[in-house]
Amino acid sequence: MSDSNEKVYSFNKNEVYTVKIEDVGTGGEGIAKIDGYTLFIKDAVREDVCEVKITKAHPKFAYAKLMKVITTSPYRVEPPCAVSKRCGGCKIMAAEYSEQLHFKEQKVKNNIIKIGKVTDFEIYPIIGMDEPYHYRNKAQFPIGINEQGKLVSGFYAGRTHVIIENDKCFLGVPENEEILNIIKKFMEEKNISPYDEVTLKGLIRYVMIRKAFVTGEIMVCIIINGNKIPNCDELVERLKTVKGMTNISVSINLCNTNVIMGKVMENVYGKGYITDYIKDIKFNISPKSFFQVNPVQTEKLYSTALEYAGLTGCETVWDLYCGIGSISLFLARSAKKVYGVEIISDAIRDARNNAKINNIKNAEFFVGKAEEVLPEYYKTHGGYADVIVVDPPRKGCEVTLLDTIIKMSPLKVVY
Ligand code: SAH
Repeated sequence: MSDSNEKVYSFNKNEVYTVKIEDVGTGGEGIAKIDGYTLFIKDAVREDVCEVKITKAHPKFAYAKLMKVITTSPYRVEPPCAVSKRCGGCKIMAAEYSEQLHFKEQKVKNNIIKIGKVTDFEIYPIIGMDEPYHYRNKAQFPIGINEQGKLVSGFYAGRTHVIIENDKCFLGVPENEEILNIIKKFMEEKNISPYDEVTLKGLIRYVMIRKAFVTGEIMVCIIINGNKIPNCDELVERLKTVKGMTNISVSINLCNTNVIMGKVMENVYGKGYITDYIKDIKFNISPKSFFQVNPVQTEKLYSTALEYAGLTGCETVWDLYCGIGSISLFLARSAKKVYGVEIISDAIRDARNNAKINNIKNAEFFVGKAEEVLPEYYKTHGGYADVIVVDPPRKGCEVTLLDTIIKMSPLKVVY
């Protein structure tokens, strides 16, 4: 024991232990304890008994590698994807779907308790999918060269930019593979090299593919480190053979950055957008606009938001971080007035247009930061709200925004 009564552990790298997985960490890794010392084990499933080897030891916890599963957890399944262990995309595919949902539910609960410091709350059961594969309507594939010198597309391995070859992702649509093959074949024939993040040379960086599930329309955006794709017309002709191909664009990104899309966008085929529906509301979606990636769950999510908002037709609603206005327009028919706020001006242009094509006249949109627009509106107009919906990116809402929401004291906040 140390002076502070804290236990001093002496666990070291390369030591091997047999442990039972008791819990799941925030990144989906298994958690085991040895006499109070915590081990984080990637790919281990809750209730597995397994042999693990320490890879990095800290005074109070260690990371360990799963060496062998000795007793298989009832929650463990064979992942349908052969590269799931290496690919950075699906971290919890070795756990059965009900266990994945349990993990997500616990994560929300723990965040409310540990970060929010709230203990007195009720949590309803998570609303999962019936068929949790092939649901993603959008994928962004980096293009590169593997160790054998072969042109590959896929996804990055966890925490690195090594491309794990995968054109048939279990979450994506079947057209992804067809499109990637056309592009890679074209690159090989025309001797077009992929972008290399080390040398900063090479042309093709990423291929973004988006499919509208209701209309079947497909969009491809090729992100390049250069000003144009040689023989681009020929590539467009080949891509047009894919059923549903509606829009092709080229995004120019000359920066040495992790941001995928460049600032300049050149439309090379179609009207610059694809059209999809959420329930009966029509949306035109351009390459840079955010659109929920899981169309089946989006309907459930928005319907649940609508139900919780409890609208009767007389309410004023603010939809903050509104993107192309999907939630705003979904709620507008049941409200008196909806205001949407979004930082990306292209998305607001889409939102205004989406209101028009759906003949929705009680929605108004503002370009700007939610944390600036709402406080300013409140100051100058004394802005009023019955319901405020927030759907921020991962980092959450700024304190200035939360303060304003509190001042406006809406009847309901739907997060
Ligand atoms: N509610 C929309 C979009 C949610 S994604 C939907 O369901 O489709 C989050 C959105 O917040 C993105 O469109 C992003 O561009 C936008 N955003 C990010 N930071 C913002 C900020 N500070 N103020 C306003 N919008 C922001």
